[in-house]
Amino acid sequence: MADEPGARVPYLADRLQGFGTTIFAEMSALAVRTGAINLGQGFPDYDGPPEVLDAAVAAIRTGQNQYPPGRGVPTLREAVARHQRRFYHLVYDPDTEVLVTAGATEAIAAACLALCEPGDEVVVLEPTYDSYQASIAMAGAVPRFVRLEPPGYRLDLDALRAAVSDRTRLLLVNSPHNPTGTVLTREELAQVAALAVERDLLVVTDEVYEHLTFDGAEHVPLALFPGMRERTVTISSGGKTFNTTGWKIGWLCSTPGLVTAITTAKQFLTYVNGGPFQPAIAAGLDLPDDYFTGLAAGLAAQRDELCAGLVEAGFGVFRPQGTYFVTVDIRPLRPDGDGMGFCRELPERVGVVAVPNQVFYADPDAGRHLVRFSFAKRPEVLREAAARLAKLGAGA
Ligand code: PMP
Ligand code: GLN
Repeated sequence: MADEPGARVPYLADRLQGFGTTIFAEMSALAVRTGAINLGQGFPDYDGPPEVLDAAVAAIRTGQNQYPPGRGVPTLREAVARHQRRFYHLVYDPDTEVLVTAGATEAIAAACLALCEPGDEVVVLEPTYDSYQASIAMAGAVPRFVRLEPPGYRLDLDALRAAVSDRTRLLLVNSPHNPTGTVLTREELAQVAALAVERDLLVVTDEVYEHLTFDGAEHVPLALFPGMRERTVTISSGGKTFNTTGWKIGWLCSTPGLVTAITTAKQFLTYVNGGPFQPAIAAGLDLPDDYFTGLAAGLAAQRDELCAGLVEAGFGVFRPQGTYFVTVDIRPLRPDGDGMGFCRELPERVGVVAVPNQVFYADPDAGRHLVRFSFAKRPEVLREAAARLAKLGAGA
């Protein structure tokens, strides 16, 4: 949560007090105002593949500009089903088991609204991507956090087990994980799955960074594990995979029953979105394998570039295995560990924007000394950012 503690927003319902303005909006506005390099909000400064861009232009030019069907255009639903089969051997019926959404964000919100009764508990990994807490709150549900701790940011399975109660309705899992860059291993996921089956839980998995893993780390969907296909809602989005974060084309795959339930909520949130962008993302999902491997390889090199710069600058660096993000401990450079203060001052001091990880924690103190940088930027931009950050050690 980006708000200062105690700041009450007039008119706003109690359940949304404390959510304020998202940190991404605040920090991107700061980057625009100061002309700083924006390594805060996670979006690339380069375009998606030409096949995808051309398909969107073609769709606009050929009149695909009205409401698409409620569940999404058939071409995209079919492409999502083909993608799940091609990469993971997961089989979904495009007509009954796939739903297109306004980004992964809407899929998560619709899942919480459709599946939770007020007072139900949702178990989430902490640090927690910011929209989860708001979606859980809008559903009147209650988050229960399972902390990933640096330096390894691994999942503590005993803590996960302890977080599940008789009130638990959902496990909301995110791997590859924002902001830590953790990619849950097959062994960790198998234990999550076993717990979900044992406690008869529904599982929502946010896999928007599914193609952004490094150093041989493998993304494995939770739906693949025994007993999981029928209890898992798998969410992803085209934003990260095709460098089109502004298009907001997401989707979810699940059983016909769960998809129908979630569609009920989704249809009254946006009904539909992004008509001409849906066939364009379908074209992207059908790109050959080397597109996907090239995307990850490029980002791995960008990660290396930025991590080297952050180490050089003197931060404690937690090297990620996936996503767009690297988290650092600022205390070697700022002994009071005030990450929010550090991020608010950084643009003026050296012309770089980052995000304070405290906004991803229910108790901001837990992430106070941690700051997230995005490496979804061109190598020359990352080199310039590293050169600027290097000045911090010299007292800038
Ligand atoms: N989940 C995670 C973990 C994210 O980092 C983001 C940000 N892209 C989203 C969901 C939202 O995805 P979308 O832009 O497709 O709504
Ligand atoms: N997912 C992006 C991030 O973590 C931001 C998306 C947003 O601005 N809501 O930076």
